[in-house]
Amino acid sequence: MFGPVKLHLKAGREDSILRGHPWVFSGSLAAHVDAFPEGAWAVVCDAQGRPLASGYLCHGSIAVRLLVFGPTSSDPETAIEEQVKKALQLRLSLGFRLSAESAVRLVNGEGDGLPGVIADWYGGFLVVQLHVRALRAYQELLQKIFFRVLGEGLKKILFRDTWNYPSAETDFSNEKPTFLEIRENGLRFTVKPGSGQKTGFYLDQRNNRLLCRQLAAGRRVLNLFSFTGGFTLNALAGGAQEAVSVDSSGEALSILQNHLKINNLEKKTHRAYCADIFKWIANFPETFDVVICDPPSLARSAQARHTAIQAYKRLNEQVLQKVEPGGLLFTFSCTAVVSVEHFEGALRAAAISAGRRVYILKQLDPDLDHPWAMAHPEGRYLKGFLLHVE
Ligand code: SAH
Repeated sequence: MFGPVKLHLKAGREDSILRGHPWVFSGSLAAHVDAFPEGAWAVVCDAQGRPLASGYLCHGSIAVRLLVFGPTSSDPETAIEEQVKKALQLRLSLGFRLSAESAVRLVNGEGDGLPGVIADWYGGFLVVQLHVRALRAYQELLQKIFFRVLGEGLKKILFRDTWNYPSAETDFSNEKPTFLEIRENGLRFTVKPGSGQKTGFYLDQRNNRLLCRQLAAGRRVLNLFSFTGGFTLNALAGGAQEAVSVDSSGEALSILQNHLKINNLEKKTHRAYCADIFKWIANFPETFDVVICDPPSLARSAQARHTAIQAYKRLNEQVLQKVEPGGLLFTFSCTAVVSVEHFEGALRAAAISAGRRVYILKQLDPDLDHPWAMAHPEGRYLKGFLLHVE
């Protein structure tokens, strides 16, 4: 591994590092870093040359992503291993188990002090997403560390890169995606790693799906952006009278159908529609007691934020009309650049336009295995509300 490279900040630019923010922008450094290879281990110093933190170097507006804070720099192997161990300890202390059928987010990027690295455990398989090109230099090291820390239970690691998604899905592991089977709160799901932007399943919604199960008894449920039916299966398992799932992916809906079968829920009343919800919803005449709306991310950059907020407003205005008076709406945004305040504002505007009185029962967050750092609000991508709609 190349390095360590010593980089100096411009005078007075050390505050964000001292607060624990893991990104060092190129504009705050005294010199360009492009002469050094991506991935090089770097020690970031203040203008006087005192070391503040260390991490890996990137070409781009974020020049260094930090793993170690403080004056003593460790080598990358020690730093990464320490973070992986900490992440595992946290999961275990929260009651998660890495077993042959469990599904757990083991590493949540900046939220676990490992910028750009996502690692999901699916019953003995680890699907590792590298969100930053520079991390390619660390693939072998990560592989070695994960096997060392996780021991015998770990059967295989599948690596995926995502920095160029969706232009190319270049898995640089040579593994063909296969279906893995996992259990979530007693329900069986199949996961196909390497399909789509995620590692194959949306683990972040586990707690919200369980809440939906608890509230679904005897009710008619509409699951918009259903993917492979996480909310649908939970609603039916919770005794929903009927469920309707809508997604634009035919493949996701056929997996959903299989999920009904392997959970012995296929006798339940269920319909699926394969459609672009943004167009479809205006002409769908039915109303439901419980509606779930969990669209994909609607903006990738801060420039697109305003358009995304407007889109949330329009979508939720239409979705509110599908809720029976007295019914419930689970509504989400997973757009990182849309804050919870922005999202609440969009929902307020939607309620006014829809002419409905809406009450917030609960703010919804990702499950406990998806921490984000207090110092890094950019890491809070999923936010939602459970609404009572009159
Ligand atoms: N709630 C799901 C995850 C939803 S992910 C769960 O708990 O597992 C978002 C889903 O939206 C994906 O399945 C994707 O296929 C779907 N999608 C994206 N754009 C869409 C559109 N315009 N209309 C309908 N579905 C869409």
